[in-house]
Amino acid sequence: MTVLTTAAEQTELEGSKLARGLKPGDVVLVSGDLGAGKTTFVRGACAALGVTDVVSSPTYAIGQVYAGPGIEVAHLDLYRIESAAHEPGLLEDYLTPERVGFVEWPGEGDAFGRVTATVRISHAGGDRREIEVTTP
Ligand code: ADP
Ligand code: MG
Repeated sequence: MTVLTTAAEQTELEGSKLARGLKPGDVVLVSGDLGAGKTTFVRGACAALGVTDVVSSPTYAIGQVYAGPGIEVAHLDLYRIESAAHEPGLLEDYLTPERVGFVEWPGEGDAFGRVTATVRISHAGGDRREIEVTTP
């Protein structure tokens, strides 16, 4: 499924739509260039899951964990990690069966045992973004 958004709020809305179908243990990979809107998408998803924390790109750690009502959300940004496959223990610290996980810059390969959905966001000129959600 591919949608075109023309404002950040619309990308948040797409994130919230995906989030409604998520349950603990689910992992969503979010790919796209710098500034494509990955964090924006995750922000919308987190809001829909009831997270009230500020959702921003984790800068000094590979991830952060937000507490929502009856759920935790792990938000990872693996931009600085060469290959997530090299960090299995690290990933497991964040991506637990009790949490919904979102992973920016997941990279190539199959480091994530269970992937619920893959989101690819592309620049489409100005504030336009193309968002493709793939579920296996
Ligand atoms: P990433 O995490 O992919 O690096 P961010 O979500 O942090 O990207 O930043 C996306 C930037 O692009 C934000 O400043 C946001 O306001 C802006 N933006 C403009 N139009 C859109 C859109 N249609 N969807 C998402 N973000 C948009
Ligand atoms: Mg980001």
